[in-house]
Amino acid sequence: MKYKAIQNFINGRFVNAGTDKTMDVISPIDGNLLSTVPMSTNADLDKAVKAAQAAFPAWSKTPIKERVQVFFKYKTLLEKHLKELAELCSEENGKTYGESVAEIEKCVELTEFATSLPQLITGEILEVSRGVECRTEHAPLGVVASIVPFNFPSMVPNWTIPNAIALGNCMIMKPSEKVPLSCGKLAELLKEAGLPDGVFNIVHGDVEIVEAICDHPNIEAVSFVGSTKVAKIVYKRATSNFKRCLALGGAKNHLMVLPDAIPAMTAQNVAASMSGCAGQRCMAASAMIGVGNVDAIIDKICEEARKIIPGENLGAVINKESKERIERYINEAEKDGAKILVDGRNTKVKGKENGTYVGPTVIDFVKPEMSVAKEEIFGPVISIMRTKTVDEALAIENANPYGNAASVFTQNGGMARYIIDHASAGMIGVNVGVPVPREPFSFGGWNESKFGVGDITGKSSIEFWTKLKKSTTKWNAEAGINWMS
Ligand code: NAD
Repeated sequence: MKYKAIQNFINGRFVNAGTDKTMDVISPIDGNLLSTVPMSTNADLDKAVKAAQAAFPAWSKTPIKERVQVFFKYKTLLEKHLKELAELCSEENGKTYGESVAEIEKCVELTEFATSLPQLITGEILEVSRGVECRTEHAPLGVVASIVPFNFPSMVPNWTIPNAIALGNCMIMKPSEKVPLSCGKLAELLKEAGLPDGVFNIVHGDVEIVEAICDHPNIEAVSFVGSTKVAKIVYKRATSNFKRCLALGGAKNHLMVLPDAIPAMTAQNVAASMSGCAGQRCMAASAMIGVGNVDAIIDKICEEARKIIPGENLGAVINKESKERIERYINEAEKDGAKILVDGRNTKVKGKENGTYVGPTVIDFVKPEMSVAKEEIFGPVISIMRTKTVDEALAIENANPYGNAASVFTQNGGMARYIIDHASAGMIGVNVGVPVPREPFSFGGWNESKFGVGDITGKSSIEFWTKLKKSTTKWNAEAGINWMS
């Protein structure tokens, strides 16, 4: 085992969970055992919540300009430890080193945004009638929880850590049991940056601990990022316990390619979008709709896909079950009559025979009713459908229950605007394959890709992590004033 057994992080210290039940943490790159992660108990969660509750009064009363000083230091520490964090991310998640570097750089950007929060939450004040002022202030919620998936071991935790904590909350983080190492390193850096003990805590585990978070009476808000199936469970359970909840789910993102799209740029974008992070991105292109004759562009996409080499510029998928699931989808599409133009099944990387790799896969002549057209595959696979018109393409996109992202490739501005207006997704790209809004713009999908109000990052997250206090003040001594005047 490369690393020592993982511990929880409670009240500024790494501590053992009160259980012997653990899961192995396996590197998808080569199948080697990295560590073990504890399946914490309700008592462990309770300790973390108590620590967070104890830290809350002082932290929430610290002026925000002072609170964000921690994040200026944290940003510098992320940069200083970029290589170590990126290596850890690749080891536990399987993505390429370059992708991991980009992930940590995104953590830096997310932290930069948090340092700007004092400029954004100044509240409002107005003399509403003679001598009477109304004023709003953003107050922190208290103890909040963040439950995260496996596909971005550092970035998704950093969607919530800097903003929620800079806004005065204390946090319980529940990392994915598949990639629990990176969060431990983040905890070390937060402590080194000067975050007071108890403000950030980690409780490892899986289903049981997530359920305990949703039920805990002293947790005020729960953010969740993961599959739609679990997002629904968490949203229902947390809100039925009267908590604020924002639950981001899975995705099936459609790219619409029009005949006037620039072939080389489009092909590169489509191939990169479907294969980046081995297709394990909620923003990955998963379905492409060719409108009219785009055969030449499809040929180029295949050319680009063939340049993507597992173990070199393509990482591994998270585990054996994922590899089997992805290959099952490809088999099914083939059986149903689709044509596999580039086939990533049965991929082995020399010297890493126990790694779980799937090569880039391009499937053409997919019908909208096939499972590869409708369901989230979460692998480096693109399913190509064909339509005669943009409206038919939009009908396919609109009919899908997800709604994270959609993109269009065209040189026609009017057509692009039409697609922006009619696609049923929260994030739209025009000639951009992975339309992730950068800070200060917020991140969040529509439909079954997100449950709850608001978005998880950027300015929109301020509403989720705070509550408004409204005060009405009169300081003049006059009696009988009609304050409605
Ligand atoms: P997952 O839903 O299996 O797990 C997410 C978290 O929920 C983990 O911490 C896990 O321990 C916990 N969990 C798993 N099963 C549970 C259950 N039955 N009850 C309670 N908790 C449970 O997701 P994953 O496989 O880790 O991540 C991949 C998924 O996340 C994909 O569907 C992807 O699209 C989605 N995702 C979405 C976004 C977004 O912004 N919408 C971002 C990243 C990932």
